[in-house]
Amino acid sequence: MSVTRLPIRADLRGVHPYGAPQLDVPVLLNVNENPYPPSPAVVADIADAVAAAATGLNRYPDRDFPALRADLAAYLGAESGATGLTVDHLWAANGSNEVMLHLLQAFGGPGRTALSFAPTYSMYPEYARDTFTGWVTGRRESDFTLDLPHVRAMIAEHRPCVIFLASPNNPTGTALPIDVVEAIAGAARGAGPGGADAVVVVDEAYAEFRRTGTPSALTILPRHPHLAVSRTMSKAFALAGARVGYLAAAPDLVDALRVVRLPYHLSAVTQAVARAALRHSGSLLARVAELRDERDATVAWLRGHGLEVPGSDANFALFGTFDDRHEVWQGLLDRGVLIRATGPDGWLRVSIGTPGEMVAFRAALEEVLGW
Ligand code: PMP
Repeated sequence: MSVTRLPIRADLRGVHPYGAPQLDVPVLLNVNENPYPPSPAVVADIADAVAAAATGLNRYPDRDFPALRADLAAYLGAESGATGLTVDHLWAANGSNEVMLHLLQAFGGPGRTALSFAPTYSMYPEYARDTFTGWVTGRRESDFTLDLPHVRAMIAEHRPCVIFLASPNNPTGTALPIDVVEAIAGAARGAGPGGADAVVVVDEAYAEFRRTGTPSALTILPRHPHLAVSRTMSKAFALAGARVGYLAAAPDLVDALRVVRLPYHLSAVTQAVARAALRHSGSLLARVAELRDERDATVAWLRGHGLEVPGSDANFALFGTFDDRHEVWQGLLDRGVLIRATGPDGWLRVSIGTPGEMVAFRAALEEVLGW
């Protein structure tokens, strides 16, 4: 038997790949997916678009995908009320994960530091690791809000290249008030490496689920050339399997991302699928409204049973706290309901499913907790 002696990077030795357990159980409420598969009309349109794209698959796709970027700009304007978005303000990649990797490839690197505030999305430190960017986290308060003096002090101390702000945040579900985002964007001016502006990334993966009256950071984009708003088609568009994430920012910032992307990173098939789904944004967003109602009902039900639940603007809710969250998680799994034990100790996170799935979740939790 040969012994492998691969030259694995010292910082990757013994590290396991990231990922939630993918278990085969009836009720999957663990990775914040949209529970509704694309409708037959959406499927038919996607199938036609893929067939058309297939006729040209001997050629490389359009490297700069202007048609998709134009469609995304139009969608964002309609969804958020943002004005002035054009092809040049948009970027896309295989999931918003890849968009954020592009950001750190362009703006991070050895000797630089990315900053975020925990608890937050657990992939950020991995983007930093993979780009040899230092990683620092400040704190969120006990209600998961941000304390501006603390944020300002962390920025001044670490002079970050990139600041990640998830809003709505995963795993807490909480959105940042727009004046807080604006204040952080102000504090980031000239506060990056060598006196450059730190890039402020507002990760709005769950933005379409925000409650009425919660504005998107897209509305303040024109005032901030160092602001980037990241979105995804994985959640509201029910397209997690297609892998399409995107970003809006000033054209200079987008141009920096174009330098680091691999050539033809977005396949012709992916571009066709995304454009077909965008043609159905109206009907897809109607489903989002149903999920928001179900989310509000779930939050109210959990609170009604005396649990703590931070106000959620996402398609999931964090709830707790439990002395032994693993026991509760396991009890639900034994009843066929998979949720996620994530976030600070004592908390659990449930994604919002169909009404039937939420009935199953509530029934299982009642049994587990002896309500
Ligand atoms: N940001 C946040 C906050 C997320 O929770 C997720 C996925 N769970 C992503 C980004 C990445 O999503 P995707 O790569 O599918 O666009």
